[in-house]
Amino acid sequence: MTGGSRGIGRAIALTLSAQGAKVAICARSLEAAQKVVAEMEATGAEGLAAAADISRESEADGLIQAAMKRFGRLDILINNAGITKDGLLIRMKEEDWDAVLDVNLKGAFLTTRAALRPMLRAQAGRIVNISSVAGTMGIPGQANYSAAKAGLNGFTKAVAKEVASRSITVNAVAPGFIETEMTAVLSEDRKRTYLSQIPMGRFGASEEVAALVAFLVSEAASYITGQVITIDGGLRT
Ligand code: NAD
Repeated sequence: MTGGSRGIGRAIALTLSAQGAKVAICARSLEAAQKVVAEMEATGAEGLAAAADISRESEADGLIQAAMKRFGRLDILINNAGITKDGLLIRMKEEDWDAVLDVNLKGAFLTTRAALRPMLRAQAGRIVNISSVAGTMGIPGQANYSAAKAGLNGFTKAVAKEVASRSITVNAVAPGFIETEMTAVLSEDRKRTYLSQIPMGRFGASEEVAALVAFLVSEAASYITGQVITIDGGLRT
C-alpha cells in the first residue's frame, strides 16, 4: 500500500495485518514506515517498510517490485498516499496544483499500472483507492485536491472495467472528515463549520475507514467493482 506511516493508511495497514495479510507500506520517510512495520511484527505478523515517493515512476515501480520480491505475490493494492496544499484558486501556485495532482492522481496511476502486471497473471486482485468527498462535492480552498480526487474516481471506474473479466476489483473509498494529522491542521473555525454540516456530529476515525477497506478486499466483496463508496457520517446524503 502507499502511505501507511500514519493516519488512515496506518489504520488500514494494521487492520489488514491483523487479518493475516503481509503488508508492504511506504512513506517518504523510511523511519516512519519502519515504526508501523514494527507494530505489525510485535503481533507476529510480517511486514515490509519502504521509502518511496510514489509520484515518481521509478519509485512507484520499485515499491511494487520490492513487495513482489519479499512476498512472492500481490493480492491487494491500497492507493492511500495523499497530500493537500490548500488555497483559494485565484492565489494557487502552479507548483501546489502539480504537487497535489502528482501524488493523489498520478501516483495511483503509476502504482496501479505496476501492480496490475502480477494481478493479471494471477487473474485475481483487489485495488482500493482512497479518494475523498472533495472529489464529488468539491471543497472551496481545495480546487487542486478536489480535482485530483474526482480524477481518481474516474480512474477507478475506467480501470475497473478494463480488468473486471480477470476477477480484479477496483473501488474507491471516499471519506468525509477523519481525525488525522491531515485534518489536525484545520483552524478551529473551519473544524466548527465542517462539524455543523455532519449529521453524526463528529469526525470519523481512521479505524472506521479501515473497516470498510477490509471489507472491500475480502472475498465477501467479490461482486463489487467500479464503485466510489462514501464514508462521511451523513455529510453528503
Ligand atoms: P496523512 O497526511 O496523515 O498521511 C498521508 C500518508 O501518505 C503518509 O503515510 C505519507 O507518508 C504518505 N505520503 C504522502 N505523500 C507521499 C508520496 N509522495 N509518496 C509516498 N507516500 C506519501 O493523511 P491521511 O489523513 O491519513 O490521508 C490518507 C488518505 O486519505 C489520503 O489520500 C487523503 O487524501 C485521504 N483522505 C483523508 C481525509 C481526512 O479527513 N483525513 C478525508 C478524505 C480523504
